[in-house]
This record gives sequence, structure tokens and C-alpha cells, in this order.
Amino acid sequence: MQGAARDPLVDWRPLAQSQRMSWWKPWTWWRRADAARSVPFARWEAVCRRAPWWRELSSAERARLVAYATELRAAWTFTGCGGLALDEANELAIAAQAALLVLGLGPRALLHVSEVLVYPSAVVNPLPRATGGGVISEGLAVLGEAWHRGPVVLAWDAVALALDASEDRHNLVWHEFAHQLDLRDGAADGRPPLEQRVSQQRWYEVLKAAYDALVAADARGRVTVLDGYGATNPAEFFAVATEAFFGRPLELERTRPELYRTLADYYLQDPAARERARETAMRL
Ligand SMILES: [Zn+2]
Repeated sequence: MQGAARDPLVDWRPLAQSQRMSWWKPWTWWRRADAARSVPFARWEAVCRRAPWWRELSSAERARLVAYATELRAAWTFTGCGGLALDEANELAIAAQAALLVLGLGPRALLHVSEVLVYPSAVVNPLPRATGGGVISEGLAVLGEAWHRGPVVLAWDAVALALDASEDRHNLVWHEFAHQLDLRDGAADGRPPLEQRVSQQRWYEVLKAAYDALVAADARGRVTVLDGYGATNPAEFFAVATEAFFGRPLELERTRPELYRTLADYYLQDPAARERARETAMRL
């Protein structure tokens, strides 16, 4: 999940509806009949319990997460593509990870997403697309995509890996849905709608300083808590910073405290405090 193969085209825009239809329709073979059906809490827990972040949530937070995830799952159309037969556990894994992102913001922040297309492995998109620099790319292998007012595209193997406790540096679901938060105002610029919680100036100053530092570190080949892929552009930086915020919060808080606090004020969550509380509880 390193480097340019991740999802190089964050500012892709949806193609005309007819083009989109011709792209995905032949591969769409399964669709949930009853999007609103609820799932017992135990089944959510069975999917989530191996994830470290789940173990750090209080029982009230877990209940809230499941409520939000249920709402998101009902609002989104999940489609297995490329021969992947999606089952309930696939959908719960995606919806639960996305719900953690909005545990403070509320599910409304992601209700604009229409579809979640899931491929078995890294997606090779057959259509030529315009990238941010006006370059046309074709047939790129990507692990995920986020389209403005369009589908989120995920590779299932990367989604499953992200739930594993041994992998905390990358989380494809957080990454792609962070792009969706960013895209709520129509611009893939690394700045989601801030809604009074964080001033525009603070966001700009803190994230620009952290972005510039990552670009410099990446140029020197230095590894930091933030994946070097975040040096691609500000939109990727926000997605990568989100992965670190939820996946390695203590390290991010220690090494980039201003970035951590700014993201905490935006997301209305403090995952470092949750992790500290769990570590303290384990020592007692
Ligand atoms: Zn990305």
C-alpha cells in the first residue's frame, strides 16, 4: 500500500452518467435487496473485535459506532465487482471503519456517498481519466478511489488488512472516506468543511507546515508517522494524516502535536486519549 500505486487520482471527477453506467454495469451482479435491515450487535463485534481501535472504545462508543454504521450501510449501495461476492461481513467491515471516522461528526458527514464498489484486489480501472494536472491516465492499478458525488472504490484485500491488529499504518477505508469528507464542498484540496470548529487560518497554517515538513522528509527518504504518499498533494496529505490520527494517534500526537490537536478539533475525537486509557488499564 505504499507509494504511487495507492490512489493517485483523488481529484478525479465523475464521468457522464452514461459512461459511468457502461463502466460498472456489466460487472454488477449482486445488490443488497434490503438495505435497511439491521444486524445484531454481536455480528458487528465479531467483525470489529480484532481491530485495536474497537478495543479502545467504551461500550457506549461502540453502541454509537454501530448505530452510525447501520445508518451508513443502509444509505450506501454496496456492489461487489470483478467477481467478488460481497457478504454481510464485507459490508459491516467497511461501514464500521467508516463510522469510526465520523464518531464525532455524525453519520450525516458521509451520507452524500452513494455507492461503495468493492473489488477483490487492487483495481485496474479500464477508463481513461483526467488527473489533476490534466494528464490522462489509463489502466492504473489502484487500491481505492473517491469520486465527488460518486462511488467510493475499494480493494477488499486492503480493507481486510486494515482491520488486522498488525497493520496500523494504513487504513484504506479511512483514507478513501477522508477524501469523501474533503470532497463535501466539491474541492479535493485537503480542507473539508470546517464548520466553526477550526478556523480556516489555523487549518491552513498547521496543515501546510506539516505538509511541507513531510515533503522535505520524503525528499530525504526519511520515514515519519505520516506515510510519504501524503507528500503527493494536500488532498493526499489530509487522507494520510487521517490514517495516522486514527491508526497511530500517540505517535502523531508526540511528533506532530499541533497537527494532532487540529485534527482532534475537526474530528471531535481524541483517539490518543483512548489509546492511553487502554494502555493504563492494561498495566493495572
Ligand atoms: Zn488518496
